[in-house]
Amino acid sequence: MKNHHIDTLCVQAGHTPQGGDPRVLPIVQSTTFKYDTCDAMGQLFDLEAAGYFYSRLANPTCDTVAQKIAALEGGVAAMLTASGQAASFFSLFNICGAGDHIVSTGPLYGGTFNLFNVTMRKMGIAFTFVDPDNDIEVLRQAFQANTKAVFAESLSNPSGVVLDIEKFAALAHEHQVPLIVDNTFPTPIHCRPFEWGADIVVHSTTKYMDGHATSVGGALVDSGNFDWSRFPDKYPGLCQPDPSYHGLVYTERFGKGAYITKAVAQLMRDLGASPAPMNAFLLNIGLETLHLRMRRHSENALAVAKFLENHPRVAWVNYCALPSSKYFGLCQKYLPNGASGVIAFGVQGGREASVAFMERLTLGAIVTHVADARTSLLHPASTTHRQLSEAELIEAGVSQDLIRLSVGIENAEDIVRDLEKALAVDS
Ligand code: PLP
Repeated sequence: MKNHHIDTLCVQAGHTPQGGDPRVLPIVQSTTFKYDTCDAMGQLFDLEAAGYFYSRLANPTCDTVAQKIAALEGGVAAMLTASGQAASFFSLFNICGAGDHIVSTGPLYGGTFNLFNVTMRKMGIAFTFVDPDNDIEVLRQAFQANTKAVFAESLSNPSGVVLDIEKFAALAHEHQVPLIVDNTFPTPIHCRPFEWGADIVVHSTTKYMDGHATSVGGALVDSGNFDWSRFPDKYPGLCQPDPSYHGLVYTERFGKGAYITKAVAQLMRDLGASPAPMNAFLLNIGLETLHLRMRRHSENALAVAKFLENHPRVAWVNYCALPSSKYFGLCQKYLPNGASGVIAFGVQGGREASVAFMERLTLGAIVTHVADARTSLLHPASTTHRQLSEAELIEAGVSQDLIRLSVGIENAEDIVRDLEKALAVDS
């Protein structure tokens, strides 16, 4: 499959049936798997043999879909998780623990910010949040001797900040740590972070990858490029014996597969954020049309963003594919074929006017979701980012009047007409 275009990978990677196999990915709805001898199963428990024994750790349907996502991102290995939150948590907790420190960009999905700033801090992991637009000299000051990774979103939710991935990869690598990129919004159709130096990619597959709002899910992908074995003291979990596997050393046994193998064998075993095979099946159906949908989302969103920008009742618009955007240059570099369907904007009159406008729409729906085939909207300050203080909202790039508009794949003229009507009414 390697030499095929990404469109072909969307449709065909992962499940490659042979003579007589089902053409469609089968749903292996089984928690458990049968072996003839205790020893044969014991080999799996020791990671001596590859295979399935319990779906909390791994399941053939889920693994097949993970392989498709690895192919789309150009990675060496991947795993699915029950949610995007679990993928973000695993991406870091696989390589850090109490006493460690992470550098993260500030403009993040609100749930990720809470995960880092509240829950993981309780676990003894420290975070420094940085402004991704700062110069590299300023960004360097965020690093400490115990820094284990840099985390960032390629296209931030909801503020629409485009990450300078090359700058962040250089920054992470000069401090000998990996760059982890949440690539949920662009998807590999519009941006492949590994090609710009990122080491690990995470996804909330709940969004565009599924695309139809049917299944919550996440994915973790390894480029295989970060050489953990060069830093055995920094990454003891990967480079030193694991007492829960009779002293096995992941980097020695699994080479480029070490990071994902450890995340499956240790984190999934112990934390159990496993995806349901049925959800993986639905995700795979979504992936089969990802390339078509991403193009349509992006075309529609550009048309909508242009309309909003020229409307006198719209206070501001942030969509990086607009030449007026602060991120237009980075967008042309990292997202040349489309900037996804998500637009942030505010209506004249502040928070109340923005909320009142949203409630007048008929086609666009108010939902706690984004990146869906149907046009949808959310007011982050009163929902996803509600728990953040005023200062944290500013850090996350969320103003009180910000509307997150997720442009769907309907006809763009119908979407614009809906917005036009709602804007025409005095608020
Ligand atoms: N990352 C981004 C960019 C998101 O937008 C979200 C959810 O909105 C997540 C991660 C968390 O994903 P999930 O809701 O699948 O747990």
